Amino acid sequence: MSLQERDKKHLWHPLTQHKLHPNHLAIVKANGALLFDEKGNEYIDGISSWYTCMYGHCNEFITNKIKAQLSELDFTIFSGFTHKPAIEMSEALMEILPQNQQKIFFSDNGSTSVDVAIKMSLQYHFNQGNKQTKIVALEGGFHGDTFGAMSVSGLSVYNGPFEEFFIDVARIPVPNKDNFEDVKKQFLALLKVGNVASFIFEPLVQGASAMFMYEAKYLDELIAIANENHVLTIADEVMTGFGKTGKNFASDYLINKPDIICLSKSLTGGIAPMALTTCTQKVYDAFYADDISKGLFHGHTYSANPLACTAALASMELLKSDEIQKNIKRITNSHQEFDSKIKNHSKVGATRQLGIIYALELNIKMERYGNLRDKLFNHFMENGVFLRPLGNTIYILAPFVITDEQLEKVYKTIEEALEIL
Ligand SMILES: *Cc1c(COP(=O)(O)O)cnc(C)c1O
Repeated sequence: MSLQERDKKHLWHPLTQHKLHPNHLAIVKANGALLFDEKGNEYIDGISSWYTCMYGHCNEFITNKIKAQLSELDFTIFSGFTHKPAIEMSEALMEILPQNQQKIFFSDNGSTSVDVAIKMSLQYHFNQGNKQTKIVALEGGFHGDTFGAMSVSGLSVYNGPFEEFFIDVARIPVPNKDNFEDVKKQFLALLKVGNVASFIFEPLVQGASAMFMYEAKYLDELIAIANENHVLTIADEVMTGFGKTGKNFASDYLINKPDIICLSKSLTGGIAPMALTTCTQKVYDAFYADDISKGLFHGHTYSANPLACTAALASMELLKSDEIQKNIKRITNSHQEFDSKIKNHSKVGATRQLGIIYALELNIKMERYGNLRDKLFNHFMENGVFLRPLGNTIYILAPFVITDEQLEKVYKTIEEALEIL
């Protein structure tokens, strides 16, 4: 029996209605930008397996460091204990994070890093006796699937059964040049009530909203307003972090830096699940007290797993290398060239790009979206390219190590897709 058949017996896949989508492609090997299935077909991983494996699958620099770590220290509890991989990782991260960040808290995935950020911001005010319990978020955001993260995400049909259990959240539109005065007014009106604890956003790119992009200057102004009103700001950089936007972090495009930053996905180069919530000294100090109950009593068993810390440290070394920085520029330029070629095509609506993130919105009527997605997806896979269109948008977020040849193949497959629609 094939792996695909055996899979069906016990496995329940994420974000899947199994009755409609019973088949799951069995991947047996991955290398660089390529995935290989059980029949021997190969696919270019055009979305870096959900924005994780930016240095390529099975990157030897990272895997060799993990192998060495594995014979030294596998795992040890991180409450009351510490270890070198966590310390070295923290030192390396501080070198590249926005200057105002000082402290790092561990968890296991993007959603938990957001839940920790939310709890940090709520308890920050609680510890100071402030009644600030509401969170402001951007419409159409995505922050994960645990209860806190789900609550601050945009409303979606998938969250229907849980909505009545959400924490107290208000949403404002994503700012642009036409609505900014109005968004500012809505934001100020919410803050004037005096009960807002924090403002959470995906800086500059909303990944799950089909790579929807907005300008740094508007976010900068909203952060300034939050600062003036003693409201903490949380940048969810789970998707945007570690070089994808052309800078180390999307927050590097901002003048006003967030108080709290969430990181995961490519943090470990896609090799091990780990997430971080980082914060300023000011946030940390609100928890630092003789009173034990003022501490942050949140803890995941596998916090600061040494193997994951080692993968993160190696990934950051790669990110800083000339080779990866050159690749980021190469892919960025390549996308720009492709964009100038394709953007005037009659079936292309808007296109957008930041760094190596490129999205192309099709000019196709609404009622065909569902079919459109499947038709596009199947076309890409038949041609050996794994892309995951969102609604009517095709986007590319390939590993930094994708070759020019592979990139050309991705572009060509997209161009051909426009002809079969
Ligand atoms: C993927 C993602 C999350 C959730 O991360 P998980 O590891 O899937 O829990 C949170 N925020 C953003 C911006 C994401 O892209």
